[in-house]
Amino acid sequence: VPQLRKDPILARRVIIATQRAKRPSHFGSRGNADPATSCPFCENNEDMTPPEILAYRPSGSSAQQAGWTLRVVPNKFPAVTREEDFAPYTEGMYQYASSVGAHEVIIETPRHETNMAALGEGEVAGVLSAYRERVLALKEDRRFRSVLIFKNHGPEAGATIEHTHSQLIALPIVPVNVSEELKGARHHYETYERCVYCDLVRHEASTKTRLVSEHDAFVVLCPFAPRFPFETWILPKKHSAYFEHISQREIVDLAATLRETLGLLNRTLREPPLNYVIHSMPLHEAQTAHYHWHIEIMPKLTQIAGFELGTGFYINPLPPERATALLRAHMI
Ligand SMILES: [Zn+2]
Ligand SMILES: [Zn+2]
Ligand SMILES: [Zn+2]
Repeated sequence: VPQLRKDPILARRVIIATQRAKRPSHFGSRGNADPATSCPFCENNEDMTPPEILAYRPSGSSAQQAGWTLRVVPNKFPAVTREEDFAPYTEGMYQYASSVGAHEVIIETPRHETNMAALGEGEVAGVLSAYRERVLALKEDRRFRSVLIFKNHGPEAGATIEHTHSQLIALPIVPVNVSEELKGARHHYETYERCVYCDLVRHEASTKTRLVSEHDAFVVLCPFAPRFPFETWILPKKHSAYFEHISQREIVDLAATLRETLGLLNRTLREPPLNYVIHSMPLHEAQTAHYHWHIEIMPKLTQIAGFELGTGFYINPLPPERATALLRAHMI
């Protein structure tokens, strides 16, 4: 059983999950195997994954069979497990808990596509609908306090399967990156009585120096203090704390926005490995005026090295204003 351990000095959490070490790699370059027989995410290989939790099957086909356009399955090598209760234990001065949670994989297409930008707008919209649907379902489980949706694309970014997919992890705690954003956002709200993300969207949309693109409901920008070269954020223009409250119309607009942004990064950086995460309000919070959900896209171009590990701050060789200009130059 994976363990959630708490560092006694920083209250920082780590998950100890020995199962994860057994993950095989499914990158073509490593095995050169034919995806039709070896890729667990390709159509007709449904028996290579655990049984599906959710599937879009316009063909009316039955579960675990071909005929789907999207599937969500439990991660075969989970970092957290759903069976456990969140029971805290102590060992002398230390605290840990069995790592209760859900770890799911969203298989974005039945075809062996290796880049999300190769999907059609309708397919990307389907992926976003599946995100929303799964968060709403996991919200029913009162043990969970947060759901993180993320993508690892490319082996350098932590993916072990090249077939395009994303993941989500539901946790009984609020992860530190989100709680630090919440703290900063609450401070801004208490000082100015405004959402800091709304302020940021307004500022960037009017000055335009870091504005990559603007759509009906979303803006794409390079943040003022990015950790990584070409770090790019997508934010809803209208204030909204919970990703899962996104409307169908906004999903369609976000699909176009996300697909265009991934295409821009691909053209500018020749299909870089990347991660993205969706930061959203922890589940069941009453006050939502200060926090604003968003997507952070982080191409993996630099290594986290000694300085970053030792200080917790980042050296980024590329100013975001320059990254914005380069991305904009690749707009079709
Ligand atoms: Zn495949
Ligand atoms: Zn806001
Ligand atoms: Zn964030």
